[in-house]
Amino acid sequence: MSEKIYLASPHMSNEGYEKEYVKEAFDTNWIAPLGKNVNEFENELAAKVGSKSAAALVSGTAAIHMALKAAGVGEGDIVFCQSLTFSATANPIIYQNAIPVFIDSNYETWNMDPEALEEAFVKYPDVKAVIVVHLYGLSADMDKIVQLCKKHNVVLIEDAAESLGTTYKGKYTGSFGDYGIFSFNGNKIITTSGGGMLVSDNEERIAKVRFWATQSRDKARHYQHSEIGFNYRMSNIVAGIGRGQLKVLDKRVAKKKYIFEYYKRELGNLEGIEFMPINEWNEPNYWLSCITINNCHSERSEESYISPLDIMEALEKDNIESRPIWKPMHLQPFFEKYDYIGGDVSEELFENGICLPSDTKMTDQDLDRIIGIIKKLWNEN
Ligand SMILES: *Cc1c(COP(=O)(O)O)cnc(C)c1O
Repeated sequence: MSEKIYLASPHMSNEGYEKEYVKEAFDTNWIAPLGKNVNEFENELAAKVGSKSAAALVSGTAAIHMALKAAGVGEGDIVFCQSLTFSATANPIIYQNAIPVFIDSNYETWNMDPEALEEAFVKYPDVKAVIVVHLYGLSADMDKIVQLCKKHNVVLIEDAAESLGTTYKGKYTGSFGDYGIFSFNGNKIITTSGGGMLVSDNEERIAKVRFWATQSRDKARHYQHSEIGFNYRMSNIVAGIGRGQLKVLDKRVAKKKYIFEYYKRELGNLEGIEFMPINEWNEPNYWLSCITINNCHSERSEESYISPLDIMEALEKDNIESRPIWKPMHLQPFFEKYDYIGGDVSEELFENGICLPSDTKMTDQDLDRIIGIIKKLWNEN
């Protein structure tokens, strides 16, 4: 069996920064509860992305949940949510007993289509919040989306779980909206084994989130609660890993870009293959290198069409991980009962797309192995 190549796996620093911070927590017995690593991780991440404050939480999902709560989203409220995403973007809308309305993407960004968003505002003028996503490290069209949300006076939440390190016109994604969230799950560009962060310029709201996330304990010696609480805070050990990982974020972005450009150089002229869109105003973190396969190209016949599944299966046979593009939320059995605004862009991206292995530990030989398998499929068909 060939050596396994992962889609994206944890990559700790060569310098051992993570161990240093975790060791410090051990040496001072600051294993739990909160502590220095948590405070510093919040400060360092907020400084990196240019937000005034941050709350470190157990997951990106918890961060979206807290963002919705901080935005005042409650029972029966409408929330516009990008359809092409991972379910973790949409699930917290249901946790808050609110109602999602899903919005299509455009081909230009793969993210929320501002025109569909505008249409949604006409149909649902009472909407409470908008969740935009920066998929695979590509940024959404933020000028238009921010402007629309301002015009309608609606809270904007950015799901930047996949885009830590991505900039739009020189500004970091996650810092455009009223709230931004990041994830440090195992396959994200940096990881703490699991964790998340909520950022905002509204320090008072972030303080409130820290309160809710530690069980909403009122300031009293006895255990008193005037509000519902959550156990959502990140631990001091986990935050230590995060501080170390943050130090190598720029290096990881550089390697991800190298991987993307390597694929583009080697596979870019295979008929029907298109790479994810890199716009001039967007400097992505290239979290995953994604392509689509266009099946209406001229030369090839119906039988010789190579599907994303063909590629995934060929790679899998050689012990190499890849995956489809996210299946849109409006096509999910759980969510299909909710309204959807737009056309079939997100569905087409799902049907024709594939995420190629983007592990930052890959060597050029690993990349050549993957490329060889894909080229072989093209040569044989
Ligand atoms: C990973 C991810 C999340 C959830 O983050 P967790 O830390 O796993 O809870 C949310 N949205 C998107 C788009 C993601 O990729």
